[in-house]
Amino acid sequence: MPSYYIIIIGCQMNYSDSERLASYLESQGLVLAANEFAADVVILTTCGIRQSAEDRVYGLVNRIKKKNPKSVMIITGCLSERPDVKKRLPGKVDIWLPITAMPQLMDRIKEVRPQIMAKEEKELKDYFGVPPKHQSSFSAYVPIGNGCNNFCSYCVVPYARGREKYRSAREIIKEVKGLVQSGYKEIILIAQNVNSFRSGASDFADLLEKINDIPGDFWIRFASSHPKDISLKLIKAIGRLFKVCEHVHFAVQSGDDQILKAMNRRYSAKHYQDLVKKIRESGRKYKRELPLAITTDVIVGFPGETEAQFKNTVKLFKTIKFDMAYISQYSPRYGTVSYQMKDDVTRLEKKRREKILDQVLQQTALANNKYYKNKVVAVLVEGKNRQGEWYGKTRSYKTVQISGATGGDLVGCFALVKIDKVRDFALSGKIVAQYE
Ligand code: SF4
Repeated sequence: MPSYYIIIIGCQMNYSDSERLASYLESQGLVLAANEFAADVVILTTCGIRQSAEDRVYGLVNRIKKKNPKSVMIITGCLSERPDVKKRLPGKVDIWLPITAMPQLMDRIKEVRPQIMAKEEKELKDYFGVPPKHQSSFSAYVPIGNGCNNFCSYCVVPYARGREKYRSAREIIKEVKGLVQSGYKEIILIAQNVNSFRSGASDFADLLEKINDIPGDFWIRFASSHPKDISLKLIKAIGRLFKVCEHVHFAVQSGDDQILKAMNRRYSAKHYQDLVKKIRESGRKYKRELPLAITTDVIVGFPGETEAQFKNTVKLFKTIKFDMAYISQYSPRYGTVSYQMKDDVTRLEKKRREKILDQVLQQTALANNKYYKNKVVAVLVEGKNRQGEWYGKTRSYKTVQISGATGGDLVGCFALVKIDKVRDFALSGKIVAQYE
C-alpha cells in the first residue's frame, strides 16, 4: 500500500491542518510510513513566520529528495504560495498545495504518480469537512476558521492563507460534542483571529457559550485573539463561562503607538492595557478559581524601532505583568509591507532587547506564580518528563511537575495538586487526588 509521512513546522493551525491531512490520506488508502525516507508521499506543513522556520524547509526538502528521490514531495502551509520559495527549490517539489485545496490532493498526486491509487471516496468540497486524525487522546484542536483579513505589516499569513473564512457554529458544536463524548478533556478552538468569528447571528462569545453548555467535564481554550476585536461581551463571557480556562493569549507586538501604527495593528498600547484590566476584573467579578493569566507575543527590533520606543514596550511589560510572552526578533518576510522597510536594528541590538524583555518577563511571571504557593489546583496531565515525573497544565496554562503519584497511567486525567514550589515558568507539587 502506498504510504505517507507528514512533517509539521510552526503553529497550532499547522498541527491541526496536518491532523486533517493524515485522515484524508488514510481515507484514500495510504498508510503512515515509519519516517520521511520510507514514504511514497512526503508532506511538509510549513511556516513562514520566521526566516529560521523557512530555512528548515530548504534543508529538509534537499535531504529527503537526496535519500528518497522517488517520493512525491508536497509543500503545504504558509510557504505553499510563495514564488521566491518556489524559485529556491527548482524541480524538488512535486506539489505546492494551499491547505484549502486539500480535497483535490489525491487528484494532484495521481497526476505526478499515476501508480499511487486512491480508494473511491465521496467528493469533499471543503477541507474542514475532513474529519481529523487526532494525535492526542485527551486534547483536541478544533479549527473554527482559517485565514486573516488584518494584514499586519510584518505578517505573511493573509497572503499564505487568504481571507478569513469561518465554519458554521453548528458544524463546530457537532465536532466538539463528538470529542467530549469520546472522552476529550481539553478543546482548543483555533483560528488566526477567533474574535472575528461569525456564523449567522452568532459571534465568538455566543460560540463559547454554546460549547460551555455541552454537558461533560472538559476545559475550553482558544487562540489567537486580536486586541482590536476583543469585545466587552467576550470579556464578560470569559469571566462567566466556567469551562473556559483562566487564560487569555493575545499578541501585543509592541508597547509603542507609533510602532503599532507601522505594524498596522490598529490599537494603542493604552487600549491593550485597558483590555487586560477588564479581563482581570471579569475574572474577579465572577470569582474564578484562578487569576486570569495573560500571555502575549511581541516583536523586538521592528524597522525604525528606537531605544525610546523599545522602552515603551519594556514599560508596558512592567505594567501588565505578563505570565508568559513569546518574544521574537524581527525578521523581514518576503511579500509583506514591512519587507520594503529598512531592517535597521542590528542583530546584536535585537538580541539585547529580547534579553531585556525576557528579564522583565521572568520577574513578573515569578511574582504571578507566587499566588499558587500552597494552593491545590486542578492539572490536566500530559505525560512524563525525562526524570520520570508526571507533568501537565493548570487551567491558567502553567506547567506543573507532579510528585507523589502511585501507579497507573495519568495521561489525560485531571489531578489535584498541592503546589509547594514556584518558579518563573513552572510550578511543582504533590498529587492529592486524581479523577477522570
Ligand atoms: S492578525 Fe496580523 S499577525 Fe495575526 S495572522 Fe493576521 S496579519 Fe498575521
